[in-house]
Amino acid sequence: MPSVGLDLGGTNIYAVVLDGEEVVGSTKRSTPADGDVDALVAELRKAAKKAAEDADLSLGDLEAIGVGAPGIVADGTIDGGPNVRGVRERFPLATVLGEAAGVPVSVVNDVTAAAIGEHRLGAAQGAANSLTVFVGTGVGGGLVLDGQPYEGGHGGAGEFGHMIVRQGGAMCGCGRRGCVEAYAGRRGLEMAAERANAGGRSTRLFEIAEDKGKDRVTSGVVRAALAEDDELVTALLGEAAEALAAGIATAVNLLDLDVVVLGGGLADKLGEPFRADIERVMAPLLFLQPPEVRLVRAALGDAGGAIGAAVVGRERA
Ligand SMILES: [Zn+2]
Repeated sequence: MPSVGLDLGGTNIYAVVLDGEEVVGSTKRSTPADGDVDALVAELRKAAKKAAEDADLSLGDLEAIGVGAPGIVADGTIDGGPNVRGVRERFPLATVLGEAAGVPVSVVNDVTAAAIGEHRLGAAQGAANSLTVFVGTGVGGGLVLDGQPYEGGHGGAGEFGHMIVRQGGAMCGCGRRGCVEAYAGRRGLEMAAERANAGGRSTRLFEIAEDKGKDRVTSGVVRAALAEDDELVTALLGEAAEALAAGIATAVNLLDLDVVVLGGGLADKLGEPFRADIERVMAPLLFLQPPEVRLVRAALGDAGGAIGAAVVGRERA
């Protein structure tokens, strides 16, 4: 029986219908911005229903629904993370959405969902142990150990973006210093560029953003600046690659991972040269020599989180 996967983001809810290994339907809806939890549940139910209809199905035809949600997910409850408004205390999403939809619902962290998607149907197929790293606005991670998602005892595992690679280093959005995300996340990169620019270092980054009509430095703007050999952006992306390499090598040294999958908006835009940079810096930091780990690019793109959520839904139903 088909299952639906819902990727709950700060801006959009992306839904897919997975039948076997095939995506047979999908839809995209806006995440309610009014901060009402009931509205959020109603919109998630509607996204599942619309995706099912796209596959000529109804909710009653589904085996399960899986949800990938930002923040800490534990026992089907979410805290919403910083990106989903209205969730102020732990909210039992699996139970409430399950009752609303009449279908069994499982909830996992969004990057853990993407990690399962890549493991079952994407770039980490066949690996016993994998880490998926998503480099976008922030930096997220998801672990698959012995073929199963590893969420830790309290849902806090896989927070790759908050691995500390420089004690007392750059300020991170989480309030701590020296996290991978402070160097490699798009937001951290933008802030570092603003500071350097205010301190007198020239860069075309902000002009390029303006030319493209963007009010922030998007991943596409970063790529365009890099293509112009912008000195500051080249240096900052070098620091980003170093932070990612240190974090990934540390995770591999701890867990002897087979595959590390690199994805997310910024990493996808920067493509193969960025992956190769990280691999080059990472290789000498690995304890096992010659290295046994493969660093590969994500295969499922934007749909990975929703596909993985659908997989988790049916595997836990
Ligand atoms: Zn942090």
